[in-house]
Amino acid sequence: MSDCIFCKIVAGQIPSSKVYENDEVLAFHDIHPFARVHFLLIPKAHVATLADCTSVHEALLGRMLLLAPRLAKEQGLEAGFKTLINTGRGGGQEVFHVHIHVFGGGEPAKRS
Ligand code: AMP
Ligand code: ZN
Repeated sequence: MSDCIFCKIVAGQIPSSKVYENDEVLAFHDIHPFARVHFLLIPKAHVATLADCTSVHEALLGRMLLLAPRLAKEQGLEAGFKTLINTGRGGGQEVFHVHIHVFGGGEPAKRS
């Protein structure tokens, strides 16, 4: 997907603040955090929305969900965290490359 911003992040064409990477997923801090800790966990391979996922993605999605608590803990969210997957225009999705928001720890510091 040549015009997908998250594919460009995966390709290193757009910088990101990386939290974690392996051969199939990437996690990076959200550019507009709505909590003290807020990162996005994405598959490296482009798939637009959760509703576009099929059985092909079943194991990958499972691994992503299992990875989220580990990364949240590493980011200081030992007490717990929230996850969010906006799906489709009606679901408030803005970037059409499937991603899991992982966030918690109160309000982000105010920027001047
Ligand atoms: P969603 O509404 O679920 O599609 O959320 C997309 C998220 O991507 C928003 O929270 C944005 O702040 C975040 N975002 C957009 N562009 C970037 C970027 N270049 N680096 C990090 N986060 C981004
Ligand atoms: Zn993409």
